[in-house]
Amino acid sequence: MQKIRPAPGVEDRVFPALKAARTTISQVECKGKQMRYAETGFNLEIDLTRGNIERVETDPRDTELYLGGLGTNAKILWDRVPPEVEPFSPENLLIFGTGLLCGTPAVGCNRTIVTTVSPQTRLMAYSMMGGFWAPELKYAGYDKVILRGKSPDLVYLWINNDKVEIRDASHLQGKGAVETAELIQQELNEPKAQVAAIGLAGENRVYFASIEQGRSSASRLGIGAVMGDKRVKAVVVRGTKDINVAKPLEYLELCNEVLEYIKFRNENPIPGVMTILQGLGSPQEMATHDEKWHTENFMWGNSRLRRRDFWNEEIAKAWKDTMESMQTRLISCYNCPMKCGATITPPGQPTYMMKCFSKLTYTMAAMSDLEFGLGIAQSATEYGVDGFSTPQVMAFALELYENGILTDDDMPGMPSDNEGRFYWLLDKIVRREGIGDVLANGTYWAAKEIGKGAEEYAHNNIKKHEQLPLKLSMLNPVYFLMYATGEKINITQIEGQFPQAPYPKREHREAFVKDWFQVPDEKFKQYFLDWEPRGENSNPYYPTVQMSCDIVDWQERMHYIDDALGMCAGLSSFPLKPPYHMHNYPKFISAGAGIDMDEDKLTQAARRYRTLVRANNIRRGMRRKDDKPPENHWKKRFPELEEELLDTYYKFKGWNNDGIPTKESLHELGLDYVAEDFVQRGILTDDEDTSSEETSAGKEKK
Ligand code: SF4
Repeated sequence: MQKIRPAPGVEDRVFPALKAARTTISQVECKGKQMRYAETGFNLEIDLTRGNIERVETDPRDTELYLGGLGTNAKILWDRVPPEVEPFSPENLLIFGTGLLCGTPAVGCNRTIVTTVSPQTRLMAYSMMGGFWAPELKYAGYDKVILRGKSPDLVYLWINNDKVEIRDASHLQGKGAVETAELIQQELNEPKAQVAAIGLAGENRVYFASIEQGRSSASRLGIGAVMGDKRVKAVVVRGTKDINVAKPLEYLELCNEVLEYIKFRNENPIPGVMTILQGLGSPQEMATHDEKWHTENFMWGNSRLRRRDFWNEEIAKAWKDTMESMQTRLISCYNCPMKCGATITPPGQPTYMMKCFSKLTYTMAAMSDLEFGLGIAQSATEYGVDGFSTPQVMAFALELYENGILTDDDMPGMPSDNEGRFYWLLDKIVRREGIGDVLANGTYWAAKEIGKGAEEYAHNNIKKHEQLPLKLSMLNPVYFLMYATGEKINITQIEGQFPQAPYPKREHREAFVKDWFQVPDEKFKQYFLDWEPRGENSNPYYPTVQMSCDIVDWQERMHYIDDALGMCAGLSSFPLKPPYHMHNYPKFISAGAGIDMDEDKLTQAARRYRTLVRANNIRRGMRRKDDKPPENHWKKRFPELEEELLDTYYKFKGWNNDGIPTKESLHELGLDYVAEDFVQRGILTDDEDTSSEETSAGKEKK
């Protein structure tokens, strides 16, 4: 047992009754200690019900099998959160997992992966936040913070190297997420402490509540609601220790190569694609103001209306002026030169950090302008809500109102002006007042509760979760598979390195593939070379079914590797021709974490924990029927082709016809324990293929 002391001058904020337990860390350590590289080898386990804190040494074998971040989070969720556990049960865990390489000098490696059971989808959620929190936790000496139980009162956690406390947060009740971070930093006199906090939405268990962290947020799938349910207002970290790297010189050499390549790519944007796809990261959203593509191709309102000729010189100038008048400075996440975010100060409102596409989500949902969007986003950030779901939910409510499904009786006191209505609805939702209490569960659950045909209006969901308002014409087979089977449940975060559309001319395609060294296999170059905008080799039948499976598998693999290593997708799996790829990642892992890694082994590890994510969801009832994009995402749909795509992809992944990993594929990945659980629960039988086909999709079709 290691005795620890509370930080000086903070005794008064610690609950007196639990102080003894709460200021003691007990250590549980493995036998046969070995030097750990890149990771600390310790998790912090906090039982909020009992006020117990433990520092637990982890098994290095798990790092080899599941890497870290998402991979080991998925393993912990599998081991400790059976499907009977409800999202708001004390037995649900909330896991803050740093990526394996976070805290090392790898550029842009700063992601925290937050895992729990989502109140909205009732499936595994794994939202990510950038910023500074993950490296800080590593420097404090921990790879993960695992919360279980529920605190009797609102608290915050203060992790200051070896000193860990559960502290009273009653004075922070109802405070905004950004405001909370500032108050805690002042109270602790620790301006460098990194604070992950919830706002009012999390406290009130709004199903799309986020966790905000200074320059970033973990927004999707309602993880902030689970934090609020556990009565944790914030998790605060300060760390000043070192992280060991296995082969420092080799590692720094790799980091320098990445930096050089970032510089090269910044100076050489990719020609022939829209602005947002030309470079790395997403600095275009804040640093540049060309929103022609988004405003003309994404949908406005409740994801219904396309405004083809919206963008013109006048609007471009007005929006540029708005942005420049409110933007204080461009900022980056930890150890990254890309400056994707910006601090924004709307007139008369406090400064907040705007990131990525939430710049436009409120604007477009309300059919308004950028000034409105940046203003309401400030309130939304303080309340701590997801910038994708929230505008959709509000636009959905107003569409119901316009169509008489919700009436004045449901909306007493709602202002008459459009923008006022959005502010009014936001307030009602985060406070769960009146109709806001229904809407706070998201469009899927709200529609069910409202009835009267409201379900028709909750039309832009995947697996019960709101998506960005994008509607297109012709089915794209690659995107069909990504949307249908992606368990991040987010249409924008599973895109990848294969271009989204063919280049019109062959010579352009030839120029593109010339320096495309990131491809894991040369065949991808040929796939792209032969892809035409029109004719036989065009969507929906090209890329062919098999090619689509290959492309989706590659893209998904890169996302899963990023999410285990803690790498920002903006420098790896998301953009075209990124600095991190399948060929240098094994070297980073070998030199950084000291694990002997090659491309095959890395592919196998990613397949292993990808399958484990699916297994968690299968155990929670997810089946083929759930693997589908929003009904109206494409105007032109091809049911037979879509079935064939799913059939072939499932086989390719080692899943049966209902999307359940087979015993054989589980065995190959060393996941026999999953197969045993499936058999015990009747999800698979000894004669697995006939059983699962009979029990699900097969039956549904009859
Ligand atoms: S690319 Fe942008 S989002 Fe990614 S780590 Fe760098 S600054 Fe953050």
